[in-house]
Amino acid sequence: MDGKEYVQKVLSTVQKRNLGEEEFLDAVKEVLTSLVPVFDRRPDFIKAGLLERLTEPERAISFRVPWVDDNGEVQVNRGFRIQFNSAIGPYKGGLRFHPSVNQSIVKFLGFEQIFKNSLTGLPIGGAKGGSDFDPKGKSDNEVMRFCQAFMSELYKYIGSNRDVPAGDIGVGGREIGYLYGYYNKLKGVSEQGTLTGKGLTYGGSLARTEATGYGLVYFTEEMLKDHNLSFKDKKVVVSGSGNVAIYAIEKATELGAKVITCSDSNGYILDENGINLDVVKEIKEVRRGRIKEYLKSVPTAKYVPDFREIWNVKCDIALPCATQGEINEKSAKALVENGVIAVSEGANMPSTLDAINVFLSNKILFGPSKAANAGGVACSAIEMSQNSIRYSWTFEEVNNKIKNIMINIYNNSKNAAKEYGNEGNIVVGANIAGFLKVAEAMMAQGII
Ligand code: NDP
Repeated sequence: MDGKEYVQKVLSTVQKRNLGEEEFLDAVKEVLTSLVPVFDRRPDFIKAGLLERLTEPERAISFRVPWVDDNGEVQVNRGFRIQFNSAIGPYKGGLRFHPSVNQSIVKFLGFEQIFKNSLTGLPIGGAKGGSDFDPKGKSDNEVMRFCQAFMSELYKYIGSNRDVPAGDIGVGGREIGYLYGYYNKLKGVSEQGTLTGKGLTYGGSLARTEATGYGLVYFTEEMLKDHNLSFKDKKVVVSGSGNVAIYAIEKATELGAKVITCSDSNGYILDENGINLDVVKEIKEVRRGRIKEYLKSVPTAKYVPDFREIWNVKCDIALPCATQGEINEKSAKALVENGVIAVSEGANMPSTLDAINVFLSNKILFGPSKAANAGGVACSAIEMSQNSIRYSWTFEEVNNKIKNIMINIYNNSKNAAKEYGNEGNIVVGANIAGFLKVAEAMMAQGII
């Protein structure tokens, strides 16, 4: 059986077994298709049933999360933790609290996380979790009660050598604090390495807040440099206004770019003078408000009440930092027609497969999420290291480690693409480079 036949065979099984899980199926298809040249060279991988094992989570946990709201009414949400692959280290991946969370989304994110974590070069396996709970509009007390209810089940499955969750959409410092506090109470321990993204006073790492956004820009800078380009004087469109977006805007601006947009799920801001990040931070990090409020501080900016329209804004570089599937084929074509030179993904899989094909076929420099946004999880692993040795590195030390990791990820992905006959295709290169390390570890450890 050649590589193509093997991948087709596994894909058809995965499709039958995961009916209706579109996000997960798309993610598997995207990765597996790019691994064909690897299986052409490695019949031993086929014989060991590597893909059959890799596409099935080691463990998928789904649980009830009952809690009482401020009106005394009982609410029931659903919690998930998908422990996908632990071949290279303890499971590691964020928790997402958002009404859209379901099994397919958590599985897709967990699957992607395997390769992303491997790309960092650090010893962390792949996982993801979350709940369909919506923290928006909830009081602090409600968020705390929900986090405690969520942890009262999750604590059975996690631990510093087992599974180390972190934040994601809807799970920031506040939520991590509540989750961490309750984990320690339930277990009767002070186990700092169990969750990452912690506050600085109780085992968090400097630069964790900035890591994903800064890392995205470091990766993109390396990709641009490789083509004799840079951020300097480039017009940049960033979507989102959360953790990733804010620090991508900060670093890109520091490198001389002019970032002219940001958004939330209601709409986007266009500020041709360059986004005023202090205003965005005040709205999003302090008041937890809506991005439309930017106009109160900067009346010369424009607000468009449809976030998808953001991709019609003319720019040199696009950094999607909001959510999955936010750039479809039409948006990708609009970006290309408007002269974009590079697209680099801060969010997880923000471009649909059709959109990626538009970028690749038009020779746009493209940084796929599993490579470009790995700075966050890399810093989380650095936080685990600091917790293990009970020590803290300075901001500069952590930031430099992240920068080096992002540069290595770009170069390893680029080299893998070349070695396997797809020069310049970082999508394929990242999949292959991430896969090979996990595959060798799985081969060494026998059929488990
Ligand atoms: P935040 O919750 O801080 O911010 C998310 C931003 O995206 C908000 O502006 C939000 O707007 C917007 N958004 C969320 N859902 C949608 C939607 N369905 N449609 C349009 N806009 C939406 O999340 P993060 O910044 O942490 O995460 C953003 C992306 O980056 C996610 O894909 C996440 O998985 C990924 N990521 C995050 C990492 C991290 O370290 N934080 C690490 C690696 C990846 P609104 O306020 O209206 O919801």
